[in-house]
Amino acid sequence: MKEYDDITGIIYDIQRYSVHDGPGIRTTVFLKGCPLRCLWCSNPESQNFEIEYMKKFQSDEKELVGKKVSVKEVMEAVLRDKVFFENSGGGVTLSGGEVLAQPQFASAIIAAASEEGVHTAVETSGFSKFETAWKVFEHVDLILYDIKGMDDERHKINTGVSNELIHENLKKLIEKGKEVMVRVPLIPEHNDSVENIQGVVDFASQIGVKSIEILPYHRLGEGKYERLSREYHLKGLKTQSKEYAQELLSKISKPDGLKITV
Ligand code: SF4
Repeated sequence: MKEYDDITGIIYDIQRYSVHDGPGIRTTVFLKGCPLRCLWCSNPESQNFEIEYMKKFQSDEKELVGKKVSVKEVMEAVLRDKVFFENSGGGVTLSGGEVLAQPQFASAIIAAASEEGVHTAVETSGFSKFETAWKVFEHVDLILYDIKGMDDERHKINTGVSNELIHENLKKLIEKGKEVMVRVPLIPEHNDSVENIQGVVDFASQIGVKSIEILPYHRLGEGKYERLSREYHLKGLKTQSKEYAQELLSKISKPDGLKITV
């Protein structure tokens, strides 16, 4: 038995065979609880820290969202697909909610996976005290880091928090030599102006980021708000195609050494 096997946390899902949460085939573990309230959040059931009820899909019956699990239980699920990770260059990704909000649990999973030779990645908003975040980031192989906008007032409206800490933490991670991919969710009328995207690209380039991924807006999570008896604030907003994002990018001046993908 390892010293971290019994550390527990709250998760709301484990998805096997993910291909969008880092390289190769991955198992994504979704931690529950997030201090942000992004207007477009496609996983509203991830936001509350408490276990809660949500209506089942197309039914009035309710089901519990979230459960307390140990690192040992998470690793048993993850290691089932070790052979796929090895063949595809994949591994385990911790996502949320906000992974940094359960630092002891997240860092223990990263330690356990690393000990098994499994590649580790974290998806994060970066919103945490750096000392706390570093406990999670220090030993992780890849950080997928959201930057949602440069204008702080707009950022507060869009997410409920200032972007200052998020940008500071990103700078520190790059200074410490961590492998970071910045991800930018594009949200119509909220952060998809040429000015904002250019600002993100320039900021990322100046601090030494090498890779940015643009994520066009989708509404896949909209139905979940109703199932949670909550309001979706972006009702009626049009989704964006990959071509739209590419067209937007064609208007951006791209610094040398920065790879931008859609
Ligand atoms: S940071 Fe992620 S999980 Fe948290 S509210 Fe925003 S989109 Fe949702």
